Amino acid sequence: MKDWRNGDLSGRNTFGIAARCKRWVEVDSEEELMAFLPTLSTADAPLLVLGAGSNLLLTADYPGTVLHVNIKGREATVEGTDVYLRCGAGETWDDIVAFCVQQGWHGAENLSLIPGEVGASAVQNIGAYGVEAKELIVKVEAVEWATARKVTFSNADCAYAYRQSRFKNEWKGRFVITHVTYRLSTEFRPCLDYGGLRAHLSSDHPTAEELRRAVIDIRRAKLPDPKVEGNAGSFFMNPVVTRGQLEALQRQYPQMPHYEVDENRVKVPAGWLIEQCGWKGKTLGKAGVHDRQALVLVNRGGATGADMLALCRAIQGDVQRKFEIKIEPEVNIV
Ligand SMILES: Cc1cc2nc3c(=O)[nH]c(=O)nc-3n(C[C@H](O)[C@H](O)[C@H](O)COP(=O)(O)OP(=O)(O)OC[C@H]3O[C@@H](n4cnc5c(N)ncnc54)[C@H](O)[C@@H]3O)c2cc1C
Repeated sequence: MKDWRNGDLSGRNTFGIAARCKRWVEVDSEEELMAFLPTLSTADAPLLVLGAGSNLLLTADYPGTVLHVNIKGREATVEGTDVYLRCGAGETWDDIVAFCVQQGWHGAENLSLIPGEVGASAVQNIGAYGVEAKELIVKVEAVEWATARKVTFSNADCAYAYRQSRFKNEWKGRFVITHVTYRLSTEFRPCLDYGGLRAHLSSDHPTAEELRRAVIDIRRAKLPDPKVEGNAGSFFMNPVVTRGQLEALQRQYPQMPHYEVDENRVKVPAGWLIEQCGWKGKTLGKAGVHDRQALVLVNRGGATGADMLALCRAIQGDVQRKFEIKIEPEVNIV
């Protein structure tokens, strides 16, 4: 266990924002976590659980305790063609994907190279190339902050939706996730219909390794590397609008792209809306919009959290004025 005063968060957020916290605590086991939680006093509040900080915008120094769950470990149980893989919350997500591909356990290939840790995968319902973590998650184990009591949630308990879960909403700040169990399969049924995957593959019957490699190559070509240019991936969620709203907007913008959600609703790519407002490649202070991917906000060097937030607000304002659509950050703003 680590327990430091005046912790440095600069290397713990992929935006590369310079910030500190009053106290930094890192636990290596569930037992350490359960022993630590009852010792917290109000002087240590507020509390923030941090994974790899790849979906986080720090707008100021954190006035309380930041907790990192460094629980490692992978345990697999095979039942027929199903493989149940229980992972510690502090495992790096992409190491898990690489491990599964190596073992011949399938389902996570499309989620290759998403930064961050296992704990956050169950908070964020990470998704890419037509697959979401909710399709794999069967069980989430956590400890409640207030009572230090162990709790287990089923997939249904977590109310997963696009980049959403109860952990992000009504349960925000209530539970510390310690383990996530994913269901994979020994049968390989690749999902190739999203994000130009097929075009990138030399055959319609790729191996799992080939699919993982294609996803990695596309991501590396499209997304800025946070080590080179600070960012948190897609900054905004794609807004969902009613079909009536879409039809009204299409009279003015016939080329507006959209994807079906259900009978009454469609999703509009936030990147397209931002690009139409002229923000792609633009800079405001030390914060900018990536020149190939309008959905990604970048730290052009030395940006503060306030610089990033000012850019976020300016973009939201322009999209609202032009399209009367509210775009919400996917990134957790603290
Ligand atoms: C270059 C880049 C590309 C990205 N691409 C994608 C993508 O394709 N798809 C996608 O979905 N996301 C993407 N992201 C976003 C990010 O990778 C995910 O949201 C990821 O799950 C964040 O993991 P983390 O460990 O860094 O979480 P953090 O940013 O540290 O935390 C995220 C949230 O989870 C909470 N949390 C973290 N760990 C725990 C825990 N153990 N218990 C309780 N709460 C916890 C935090 O409090 C916070 O609310 C991208 C980010 C970057 C930088």
